[in-house]
Amino acid sequence: MSGNLLLRTAIAVEHDVFVVRQRGREVAAAVGLESQDQIRVATALSEVGRQMFALLGAVVVTFDADSEHGDMLLVSATAQAPTDRAVLDALAAEVAGAHRLMGTWRVYESGGRVTIAMGRQLPPGAPSWTPARVEELRTALERLAPGRPVEEFVLQNQELLTSLAEVQSQRDELLRLNAELAETNRGVLALYNELSDELEATNRGVVALYAELDQKSAQLRDASEAKSRFLANVSHELRAPVTAILGLLRLITDPASEPLTEEQRTQLGLIEDSARDMLARVNELLDLAKAESGRLEPSPADVDLHAVFGALRGTMPSLVDRPELDVVVEEPAGLPVLHTDEVMLVQVLRNLMTNGIKFTPRGEVRLAARYAGGDTVDLVVSDTGIGIPPEEHRRVFEEFYQIRGAAQAAVVGTGLGLPYARRLATLLGGELTLTSTVGAGSTFTVTVPLRLRPPHGDA
Ligand code: ADP
Repeated sequence: MSGNLLLRTAIAVEHDVFVVRQRGREVAAAVGLESQDQIRVATALSEVGRQMFALLGAVVVTFDADSEHGDMLLVSATAQAPTDRAVLDALAAEVAGAHRLMGTWRVYESGGRVTIAMGRQLPPGAPSWTPARVEELRTALERLAPGRPVEEFVLQNQELLTSLAEVQSQRDELLRLNAELAETNRGVLALYNELSDELEATNRGVVALYAELDQKSAQLRDASEAKSRFLANVSHELRAPVTAILGLLRLITDPASEPLTEEQRTQLGLIEDSARDMLARVNELLDLAKAESGRLEPSPADVDLHAVFGALRGTMPSLVDRPELDVVVEEPAGLPVLHTDEVMLVQVLRNLMTNGIKFTPRGEVRLAARYAGGDTVDLVVSDTGIGIPPEEHRRVFEEFYQIRGAAQAAVVGTGLGLPYARRLATLLGGELTLTSTVGAGSTFTVTVPLRLRPPHGDA
């Protein structure tokens, strides 16, 4: 340790305490301690020095560069050990305040002498203890002229004033912070009030919006009902004259009537085709209008799916006179008994299969039934036809909507088939969904409950 000795001094007479204090501050400053720490070292040392001198007599003070636990200035005060332990205890009590000022504090006895060693760590920026540094400090400190007690006293006063000013500024800072806090509180309160007002205004807006929404949906419902009524009326009105035309045609072409020329017969045949076509469409319109107006109610009963599929297998392929198109109706297998409205179900399937046949130039149209788990069954109509682009998937279920493209140009229709099929699927308590890839084909899936509950709840 002595190899790291920076300075040695002593208290031989009372006023040396001031000198030692001054040295403490100077050494602390020289090794790079900050001004607060310089005051701590000087104050602790002068306290310890004064008390030791009073209780034990002459005191030797050393300053060492210690680096046992990081770089630290070690200040030791050594005096003759007392024979009476009570004196040591009294000393310990007197220097308790000084103890608090220093980071490291050790009291030990050796060779009949007692030492109080106090340490203060160097701050991060200070030069570290290299032999060269220690040597340089030692030389610089040796040159210090012993100061006069009055100077140290004046300095001590200044330090006191600085500390007081610091306390004052800390109090001012506290007051400022308090004021700021009060201000913030007021701000928060104002913000809260503003937000409450805004929330209330927003609430009022939402209420008004809902009222408007209710009104709009009532208007929409009225409009939709008016449209259904209109469709029903128009189709009903159209049906009578078309039926009359067909009746008259039958009369004219009756073998019992006036004979017709071949030309007349051909033309009447064309009229009849058109009239039948028209009747079919008027009927479609009427069906849809009925389904929409809620006048169509399903009557559930046990359905023999084998028989239904058998009938479709008998009729659907006959609609196709193209060898390059197959219509396949699979055998429904492993299905629980279905309890639903058979007429509606057949209408939906027939509709989907007719579409499949219309929009599939070659390949196949296939009908299959699959148990979908839970209480539902899937009836699937798939084809290898022209397909439906994704952006049309929603619109094809709108009334009168038809895709207008080169691929669809050759096909006739009304745009009522799919909306009607979806309507019926809904009435059966299920849904109709579509997946499709352009050029590869479409798959329409009717998912219906195994047991359709009658509309009025009686099982
Ligand atoms: P349409 O009487 O025209 O068949 P739909 O409502 O049944 O009326 O169908 C609407 C449109 O959806 C059709 O015009 C057609 O463009 C398209 N579409 C329906 N089914 C298929 C299908 N299986 N493959 C390709 N396009 C289809």
